[in-house]
Amino acid sequence: MNDILVCPNCNSKNRVGQVPSGRVPVCAKCQQALPWLHNGSDQSFASDLEAGVPVLVDFWAPWCGPCRMVAPVLEELAREHAGKLRIVKINVDENPQVSQNFSVRSIPTLMLFQNGRPVDTLVGALPKGQLNARLSPHLKH
Ligand SMILES: [Zn+2]
Repeated sequence: MNDILVCPNCNSKNRVGQVPSGRVPVCAKCQQALPWLHNGSDQSFASDLEAGVPVLVDFWAPWCGPCRMVAPVLEELAREHAGKLRIVKINVDENPQVSQNFSVRSIPTLMLFQNGRPVDTLVGALPKGQLNARLSPHLKH
């Protein structure tokens, strides 16, 4: 699956397919790390987790008000932590398998994965500062 990732540095649109394990996507034009946020699915989830960086999974649904508050915060986090974090959004209505596998009972639920395993779970719409505080111990500085 290809994603279009926009470079925050030079505004180039980058078509990004499967990134080799252990790598992060970089801009083809200026080599800057790209904010890595995309819509995952039941089918792609296993490969979504095969990133060289921690993966924050956002379990959400279109009808969920608090989820809509979290969405722009996640976009900011993807930009701020480009090259250090991957964000994968899972629409729980369309992808019941992943949500069931990880026992997601309420949304929004944010689950942080490292090396394919969940290391932290945050339930509810947290403000950006709190999210960053929970994330930063897991991110490379
Ligand atoms: Zn660029």
